[in-house]
Amino acid sequence: MAVGAQADKPRAVEIRVTGTVQGVGFRPYVFSLASRLGLAGEVWNSSGEVGIFLEGPSSAVESFLAELRDRPPRLARITSLEVRDVEPRQPDGFRIVPSRESGSAAVTIPPDVALCDDCCREVFDSQDRHYQYPFTNCTNCGPRYTIIESSPYDRSRTTMRSFPMCESCEGEYEDPTDRRFHAQPTACPACGPTVWLANRQGKTVTSRNWRQAFQSVIRSGAIVAVKGLGGFHLCCDARNETAVRELRRRKGRPHRPLAVMVRDLEVARKYCSVSDREAALLSSPEAPIVILTRTDDEGLAPALAPGLGTLGVMLPYTPLHTMLFADDIPVLVMTSGNFSGLPLAIDNDEALRTLAPVADYFLLHNREILNRCDDSLVRVVDDEVHLYRRSRGWVPLGIKTALPAGPAVFAVGGDMKNTFCLLKDDTAFMGPHVGDLEHIENEEAFRAAAHRMEVLTSFEAEVVACDLHPRYHSRELALELARKRGAPLVEVQHHHAHMAACMAENDLEGRVVGIICDGTGYGTDGQIWGMEVLVGGYEGFSRASHLRYTPLIGGDVAVREAWRMGLSLLVDAFGYYEGSKLALDIFGRAVPEAKLKAVLNLMRTTNPPRTSSCGRLFDGVSALLGICRESTYEGQPAIELSECAEPAEPYEDGIDQVSTRIDQRPLVRRVIRDLLSGEPPAVIAGRFQATVAAALVSAALEAVERHPETRGRVVLSGGTFQNAWLFKSVRDGLIDAGCQVFYHSKVPTNDGGLALGQAAVGRVKGR
Ligand SMILES: [Zn+2]
Ligand SMILES: [Zn+2]
Ligand SMILES: [Zn+2]
Repeated sequence: MAVGAQADKPRAVEIRVTGTVQGVGFRPYVFSLASRLGLAGEVWNSSGEVGIFLEGPSSAVESFLAELRDRPPRLARITSLEVRDVEPRQPDGFRIVPSRESGSAAVTIPPDVALCDDCCREVFDSQDRHYQYPFTNCTNCGPRYTIIESSPYDRSRTTMRSFPMCESCEGEYEDPTDRRFHAQPTACPACGPTVWLANRQGKTVTSRNWRQAFQSVIRSGAIVAVKGLGGFHLCCDARNETAVRELRRRKGRPHRPLAVMVRDLEVARKYCSVSDREAALLSSPEAPIVILTRTDDEGLAPALAPGLGTLGVMLPYTPLHTMLFADDIPVLVMTSGNFSGLPLAIDNDEALRTLAPVADYFLLHNREILNRCDDSLVRVVDDEVHLYRRSRGWVPLGIKTALPAGPAVFAVGGDMKNTFCLLKDDTAFMGPHVGDLEHIENEEAFRAAAHRMEVLTSFEAEVVACDLHPRYHSRELALELARKRGAPLVEVQHHHAHMAACMAENDLEGRVVGIICDGTGYGTDGQIWGMEVLVGGYEGFSRASHLRYTPLIGGDVAVREAWRMGLSLLVDAFGYYEGSKLALDIFGRAVPEAKLKAVLNLMRTTNPPRTSSCGRLFDGVSALLGICRESTYEGQPAIELSECAEPAEPYEDGIDQVSTRIDQRPLVRRVIRDLLSGEPPAVIAGRFQATVAAALVSAALEAVERHPETRGRVVLSGGTFQNAWLFKSVRDGLIDAGCQVFYHSKVPTNDGGLALGQAAVGRVKGR
């Protein structure tokens, strides 16, 4: 920076800052920075941006700009910073002036934000008035979406309105130089919500000493339902195997991995490898659960994540959570406070009613949670962040798109891992994780979340989009919405929606090739699709190639009993007679013979639905290899297969590719030959995965060649791409062949991202 007589000439500038700059403590930050540098002027909010007028010595103006660029407020994301010189006005000091909103101001409701360092320091400072106060927050942290009723965002429209501010809090709230200037949920022990520990009858055990009481029941092995930010968690000591097993038993969740919350990064590093990127994510304002690779199981309960080499880890993200830990309680199980598949409990009475069979104690508080919001889940793959569940910390932030202008679309998503999407102008507002809609309770959760999002974004649907599946519950919800709004319904094939979602978040237009590796999706021919190479764009698609169909015997039962898929693959690859014999050999000890024979019989006598699903192919092979024959959570056989697979070369000629069909029969024969000759399952699993990846790459390349209009652009989507090895292998294979490869980073690759694709197709078709 040039400093000197020339540089210190007086200068006056007007600055316009766009991005995430409102509701993030930007104005107090600007105020104190300008005051510190001795600059005069003013700062104001206006339609989605912040305006600043500055006047003073040139060098001070330069310092101001440098500081603003390099060290903006914690939650601010500056997308552009425009500076122009203006006439000096000789203002008197620096002021925060009223907003200059224009009519078109986009309403932005912030997501919930993890505890900031300043507040954390105060919570542990015995001299501070927020000492040990579990609801301490400021403009840089605290609850937002979960407590908001309507916009604009101010205290009277949040569940904090039942706690009038005390004089000290009000003083900070009104002081433009304070970190709590206009911090809507600000509170302290004198005026804010309180915490108490109750037994399972709802009777208060203690309020004053809740922290000590909580820690002592955790030490004794109890399971505690903890009311947090977006809902309840079920919590126990993650180092107590008996407690963890008991939690699994009571919750009816025998194997699904349980997430843990650790006291600090140091504890995370004791059990897992944590890269810089992962550390930054764990400590970020979003504070998601990060899937980490385990390095040391010393002391952790083996029942946490059986069969897996990974662990879902998060850091405490509210003052209440930081206060749960002690020197001898460094790691807690923190799993969703619900019964398998049901909505997260958010209300005290509801929790006492529904979680009493699971929890021994309840850690409750009286700040009402208005909007349910599950923890988000992410994984770092090759230093890039993949969102597997986009909820707390992200919702209700909009995702900017480059989609063509058109009607406002309400896309309802799918039935599994449901999220919905409100597409308004160029912004897609994805709703919170709702879960699986087969439970009626989740439909209610959907309606509540959808209503709230419509209110917060002043949304009125002009088109409603849903999945093509005639029996999806989400379709019923879509019909209900379409009727209410008098809006047309656009049906979007499941894998077309996956492809469109990936296109939309990467700002792609025109036609592309899409590789979709997925569990289940209803196809245009009424069969169950899932390993598809598509060619097309938002307006439509064709199916360039797909996995050869095999029967899915028992429908959803076949998803749970993976051995049924194994059987199906055997009979398809070897014929009925030899396939049956092999099945009895391979599954004979694990599956009752009568059951095997009954399923074999069904295969011959009925006309079961057929599937080209990638997830089912992985399930079937996992079962054949004896890795996982029956699953107790979605994707278990495939996940366990990829976890145990050793790096290997693909089988030569392991897959026959007949232009529109990927024929897995040769692959299944190779797998069985290896199995019968005693090759270790981990090696076979590696060869299997490698062969599938190679087949997908070659099928996509063929499509690229036949469709030059796609210009070698390939998108990857679908739930099976959560298999990091498969994902990387397909991606790298395509890049090596000269393709441009696109994948998900803003929405999940699984059905949690489906609604974005439905919305994009709905926008284009509804025009
Ligand atoms: Zn704070
Ligand atoms: Zn107060
Ligand atoms: Zn899907």
